Amino acid sequence: MSMSTSAPAAKVAGGPLLISVVPNGDFTIQLTPTPAPLNEKPANAVPKRARLVQFRVSRTVVQQHSSFFQTIIGNRPHLGDVTFENKGNGFGYALEVWLRAIHNGIHTLPHSLKATHMERAWVAIGVGEQFGFAPNHIDKIKPWFLDCYQYALSNGGLTPFAACCLAFPCSVFDHAEGFMKLTKFLAYNTNGNIFTHNPSSFHGLNADARILDGPLTTARAHIQSILDRELNFPLDKLHKATCNCRKETAFDYEHALRALDCWPMDRAVQIYPIADIIVELEKFTFKPKSTKCTSGVCTHDFKNSVNIAIRKAKYAFDGLCLDCMERSQEEHVDSQTRQVFMEKNSPFKGCWDMECRFGHGRASWYYSWMGPSSVRREILEKHREDKKGCGPSRRARRGARVSKDGTNVPTAGLAQLSVNPQTSGRIANATGGKDKETKDHRDNYDDTDVDDDEFFDAEEASLGGCTVTDDGNEPDHGTST
Ligand SMILES: [Zn+2]
Ligand SMILES: [Zn+2]
Repeated sequence: MSMSTSAPAAKVAGGPLLISVVPNGDFTIQLTPTPAPLNEKPANAVPKRARLVQFRVSRTVVQQHSSFFQTIIGNRPHLGDVTFENKGNGFGYALEVWLRAIHNGIHTLPHSLKATHMERAWVAIGVGEQFGFAPNHIDKIKPWFLDCYQYALSNGGLTPFAACCLAFPCSVFDHAEGFMKLTKFLAYNTNGNIFTHNPSSFHGLNADARILDGPLTTARAHIQSILDRELNFPLDKLHKATCNCRKETAFDYEHALRALDCWPMDRAVQIYPIADIIVELEKFTFKPKSTKCTSGVCTHDFKNSVNIAIRKAKYAFDGLCLDCMERSQEEHVDSQTRQVFMEKNSPFKGCWDMECRFGHGRASWYYSWMGPSSVRREILEKHREDKKGCGPSRRARRGARVSKDGTNVPTAGLAQLSVNPQTSGRIANATGGKDKETKDHRDNYDDTDVDDDEFFDAEEASLGGCTVTDDGNEPDHGTST
């Protein structure tokens, strides 16, 4: 950054553009013209704001909101202006957003500063950090970002690209609802290892955004493992059967899955996002050839097993939770005892979303964990011990987030409906068919609580392995009836 302190405003074509952020401002922040891009635009293109921009501001206000300006002005109390290089691509707009927000409040922004491009969110973060307004005063421009977020989703829809562009800014602006929604979308709707797209020239932010990669990669592996496990379930039963038709039935079942390009699962996820696999699985049809099976296993309702796999996968992950991430930050450990830290981060009566702005299950808690993994393991072990002591009725009670008549029972911290208004209907429907489906699919294998614990333990052991399940808000399956 180039900075001069005394040079008068250079005369550029059109003269300086003066923006009075406050009347009678006693300090001027100048941005030099954007350097002409090399070979990027036709020679006759006129870059926007190709002149000096001067912001008249209050010396006191910028000092109050930025240690950066505190240092500059503190060292030179009589300084009247300061000059920076305008790096282009919305740099000046972002600075104006910040300056107007800290002086007059975000609601005084002129319409021309409305963010109609997702890039602007990243530039605002970059400019805020450069000038020292962020992260401490990020809330000053949060409404502007929410507007940007809404605009992007209403005009381009929720796409993998939009989610990649906006998930990280959601975390910076502490937009818990958007962050949960977008990270969930990314886990289900992408299949590469790219979870972030930074459209701005603030490349330094890419390193920060990489914080999403680990949790989302493992969360997606978790959903995949659930699909794999549930689709394997009929095969396991066929392998244990003794009838003559078992081999042909097993072959034909796998063949029907392969016809949809959904099997084997590890190959399918290389090619398709999980959401696409689920759409294909919904088309599954299979009728075993055997009609006189002596073991009864071949007359199993295979379609129902696939439906259960679909439903468990759909509810396996609610997205990442900013509150859980914040609560489990390691630095919290230093200022409190380990015991207090553990209690703060532990589930309460099976709810993993205590004091979180948006409701979620165990998987979201698990993958949002930012603290020492030894503490997470300890919390899971303790949870397991507590469960053992509670007897078999515990699980049914814990899962009872939806009442018999399908209405939602409020649960502490559960605001899930505002994340996804469709959830309530789906849970209710799923619960309606619970008894039959659970019995058909699970028969004597109904203790998924054990599966859950083994799942998370295995994940702990392998740190990123792919056998995990969640019991947080699953409506069916494994509930002993
Ligand atoms: Zn058979
Ligand atoms: Zn949470």
